Amino acid sequence: MKYDLVVVGGRVAGSIASYHAAKNGLRVLMLERNPEIGTPVQCAGGVSDSFFKSTGIKPLPEFTCTRINAATINGPYGASFTTRNPIVRGYIIERKIFDKYLALRAAEAGADVLTASNVKGLIFHEGSVSGVTFRGPDGTREVESDIVIAADGIQSGVGRMARLDTRFRPGKLCSCAQYEVAGFDVDDETMEFYFGSTFAPSGYLWVFPKGDGRANVGVGIRRTRCSDNGPLHYLNRFISGKGCSKLEFNAGAVPVAGPIRRTYTDGLLVAGDAAGQVDPLTGGGIHIAAECAMIAADVAIEAVESQRTDSSFLSKYEGIWRDRIGKNLDRSLKFRKVLDGLSDDELDELIGSFDGKDLNSISKISLLQVLRYYPKILGMLKNML
Ligand SMILES: Cc1cc2nc3c(=O)[nH]c(=O)nc-3n(C[C@H](O)[C@H](O)[C@H](O)COP(=O)(O)OP(=O)(O)OC[C@H]3O[C@@H](n4cnc5c(N)ncnc54)[C@H](O)[C@@H]3O)c2cc1C
Repeated sequence: MKYDLVVVGGRVAGSIASYHAAKNGLRVLMLERNPEIGTPVQCAGGVSDSFFKSTGIKPLPEFTCTRINAATINGPYGASFTTRNPIVRGYIIERKIFDKYLALRAAEAGADVLTASNVKGLIFHEGSVSGVTFRGPDGTREVESDIVIAADGIQSGVGRMARLDTRFRPGKLCSCAQYEVAGFDVDDETMEFYFGSTFAPSGYLWVFPKGDGRANVGVGIRRTRCSDNGPLHYLNRFISGKGCSKLEFNAGAVPVAGPIRRTYTDGLLVAGDAAGQVDPLTGGGIHIAAECAMIAADVAIEAVESQRTDSSFLSKYEGIWRDRIGKNLDRSLKFRKVLDGLSDDELDELIGSFDGKDLNSISKISLLQVLRYYPKILGMLKNML
């Protein structure tokens, strides 16, 4: 059978693209190489309300663990401040269940979903991508399609097969290690973040509550040298002596240096982590992957309907997503570089300066006034604005 669209990867970007395309009448095949959708987990599960608003997905009790109304930011030497609803409002979700829910939603919209199916190659017709070769439970198969969406995560072999540069050098990745723990002393409505070289040099440590003393506790750092300590070193140091039980360990990486240069070619679009569509400051990718996947599906639908799957038509995808979120990603990257330039003392002082302030009423201008106290930050901000 020939499909209109083959989607490679069955997590956030893949399932959301498949759902939208299938719901709008495209014949869709989604291929996931893991035997089970959603495992292994490589995520802390933090999502804002705006994710649910923009995707139309309901925050169902099946996959939401806790309702988040606050975030506490901790500095290296004890400074801290808490920011609350409405600045912080979201959920901690159980990714294993959530990813399966998304795949089920795609299947119910009419997409064919195959797990344990590893895409090994692309089929080309007159230089344009026109299908995939994959190894599945029934052996190796070829499937033709008008368009392929590569939603295959940071290793994105599929993008490279189409000669797009989807590689992320180690310094551009945030290496993460995380435990799901039980018996942890944490407020169920508050996410906690820890900054500074003792907790997580060039990165941060997070504690995301999952209810009744359960939490995802993780560290994400950018390593410039192999000899540097990895995230697990900092994670174990933080956890040790806390008396909690470790229910699960997982590790992964997030691209935090901004998107890849080009996310389309003849017959193929790249979406989600595979395209580096992640916030470089927070490492959050669920919301952005979803938004870009919906744009990719819309462009795929138009391309199939108009029989225009050439790269000049598909460039529309890149134009739309860069227009909608490109500036925010650039700003986050610049802001992260500013934070990277701060010493532990400066970081602690900056975090302490927010303590007791009502961030809900701070406008962008007064936020800059707070930052003005720090000449070094101001100098860096001048370069950024
Ligand atoms: C430790 C950690 C914590 C995080 N916490 C958060 C958080 O709290 N909030 C947030 O917003 N973001 C978070 N992120 C980032 C977030 O998880 C990702 O941005 C998001 O999952 C990206 O989704 P995706 O569908 O693009 O890619 P992925 O989730 O990587 O999915 C890609 C899928 O493609 C499949 N695949 C790959 N190659 C092939 C192939 N050849 N054939 C078939 N299938 C293939 C993979 O098996 C995988 O299932 C975190 C990341 C990490 C590592």
